[in-house]
Amino acid sequence: MNQPVIITVAITGAVPKKKDNPAVPVTPPEQIESTHEAFEAGASLVHIHVREPDESSGSDPEMFARVQEGVRKHCPGMIIQFSTGGRGREQSKRGAMLYLKPDMASLATGSVNFATQIYENPPDFVEGLARTMLENDVKPEVEVFDLAMLYNAASLVKKGLLKDPPHVQFVMGIPNAMPARRSVFDFLRSEIRAVMPRATWVAAGIGRHQWEVNQWCLETGGHVRTGLEDNLRIEPGRLAASNAELVKKVVDACGKYERKVATPAEARKILGLRPAA
Ligand code: ZN
Repeated sequence: MNQPVIITVAITGAVPKKKDNPAVPVTPPEQIESTHEAFEAGASLVHIHVREPDESSGSDPEMFARVQEGVRKHCPGMIIQFSTGGRGREQSKRGAMLYLKPDMASLATGSVNFATQIYENPPDFVEGLARTMLENDVKPEVEVFDLAMLYNAASLVKKGLLKDPPHVQFVMGIPNAMPARRSVFDFLRSEIRAVMPRATWVAAGIGRHQWEVNQWCLETGGHVRTGLEDNLRIEPGRLAASNAELVKKVVDACGKYERKVATPAEARKILGLRPAA
């Protein structure tokens, strides 16, 4: 049997709002509930942003703490990953919740253009955030939005700022960043083997690319990310009813690719994380 697949659910991003799809969970109770449904459907890792009351991207550690507490209570063993990204957040605040010691946190290893703005991650900021994660025993998920970020991650491993083996996510299909092309995906897979041979990896496809990238990952032995942060539709022209519906679509496809869905305990082992408390 092929390696079990860790299904990540990215429940709430920095951008999509309830007006885009009413199923986007915004308040901590909605986020906990939506995560629980996705967990029951087969997700073993949750990627979390928090929102201010006006639905803008939040930085309040108190809100991260509430969501973490609820997920730990209702989704035993599920891997909790906080986003340190997101638009409209000051750099100084982006790692402010790491003292809460989630299992993981996202770490973009370079700057990139998005549709209408720069996602700024200067070298000293990236190294500082990596160091804070090390100190708090939080495993980074390296976010690769553009090619250089892959090699930047390899140099963080060399400097001892990123533990080996790292976990890497390729983000494909954001306007102005890396396109969701199969040739690019295959190149990234071959490069990660060359520069970080022990790394585990996942890819995210944004918007209409989500399902296509999900299938590439199942086919080639990668892990999978889905969820309303990246995509609001279950199929072209139809909004997804929930994060769980998107997770179920991946679970249903696993058989075709001879992949088994990783349990939370298996997912922790694959990523080298401590067992759940
Ligand atoms: Zn995110």
